[in-house]
Amino acid sequence: MEIRRDPITQSWVVLGHREERDETNCPFEKPEIDKQQTILSWPTEGPWQVRVVPHPDPLYRIEGEMGRRADGIYDKMGPVGAHEVVVETPDHNKKLSQLSDEEIERVIWVWASRVADLKKDVRLKHVSVFKNQGILSGEEWPHAHSEVTGTIFVPRRIKYELRASREWYREKERCVFCDIVRQEEKLGKRIVDVQGDYYALCPYAARVPYEIWVLHRRHNHQFEQPKPGTNRRQLAALLGRVLRRLDKFAPAYHLVVHTAPNTRNRKGELAGYWKTLPDDFHWHIEILPIVESRSKSYSIKETYFNAVMPEQAAEYLRSVDPGS
Ligand SMILES: [Zn+2]
Ligand SMILES: [Zn+2]
Ligand SMILES: [Zn+2]
Repeated sequence: MEIRRDPITQSWVVLGHREERDETNCPFEKPEIDKQQTILSWPTEGPWQVRVVPHPDPLYRIEGEMGRRADGIYDKMGPVGAHEVVVETPDHNKKLSQLSDEEIERVIWVWASRVADLKKDVRLKHVSVFKNQGILSGEEWPHAHSEVTGTIFVPRRIKYELRASREWYREKERCVFCDIVRQEEKLGKRIVDVQGDYYALCPYAARVPYEIWVLHRRHNHQFEQPKPGTNRRQLAALLGRVLRRLDKFAPAYHLVVHTAPNTRNRKGELAGYWKTLPDDFHWHIEILPIVESRSKSYSIKETYFNAVMPEQAAEYLRSVDPGS
């Protein structure tokens, strides 16, 4: 495996072959799971609900040559990083959406705690949390799980977001995400659901049908560092309701948590580039449903084409019963 940079778009691409896994039994249940190294198990007392294990066939590995080097005019580096699997429940037949608010809150806590821990490694420039659910999303196992990756580069979409939020802040001295929440709550038509200070909304320029963002009304650039007054139970309740709505009509989805990159350098200082980051960036969750009949039309000539207006999507989502 190696990571190469596209010289035009500057995005890093992981290249190489992944082993075909021969798994007859689900690796996330007894006795298989007990044979694996446990990175984190929660709760610590009594039977576990959430467990983090190393990815059996990782894209990135903690050990190894990071060596960013030139390859003629190109750049490449070794696949150094972290790749972990978060097993969300010991129950093979339960989806994240079917867990109780308390159980979803535990999953969120584990995500945050892995991000915080991996960010201690100054080599890692970014930590991503994502979840692919459903065969159409390319999920690796049917057992409810999410993944955490720590990479020695900042993924392209995050880089775009960071640049755009910094520009917005430079111009207006306001956080673009806070601005979005304020405007959307005033308008109401793209809001899907609200719980306490947490909002689920269809973004103005939704890339795919029923795209949903989950945002906290209170500004915070780091998902993993809750500020006083952060109530993750509310976030869990909202996320559960949103996912249960999607269960009714979307066979699959991608979910990503976008948080600030790792800004520490070896001396623990904040690089000048990130000076306004705590004020200009705002963590959020993006959910991209895959609606089978429309999945082919996502992108035409490299521009997103979405046949469902976000205002209609939000109206429909509001009407879907989020009960189990
Ligand atoms: Zn299983
Ligand atoms: Zn903000
Ligand atoms: Zn984002």
